[in-house]
Amino acid sequence: MKQPVADIATEAADGYVLCQDCGHVEPWTADRHQEREACSRCGGQFCGCDACNELARLAVQFQTPDEVKP
Ligand SMILES: [Zn+2]
Ligand SMILES: [Zn+2]
Repeated sequence: MKQPVADIATEAADGYVLCQDCGHVEPWTADRHQEREACSRCGGQFCGCDACNELARLAVQFQTPDEVKP
């Protein structure tokens, strides 16, 4: 019997946080994840759990990157 190879714990620290109020996405940091840093747009609180991380990643893929702004 082989051990399962799914070891994704190390990837969790490199993701996104999602503002619970306006849906703004920012890169994951411990401060944002632990709600010590508020959303720069609305002052709301970020969540960096697995579900929000995944939502944020999808949002980023369908979002116009900041550098493309006029
Ligand atoms: Zn916000
Ligand atoms: Zn969450």
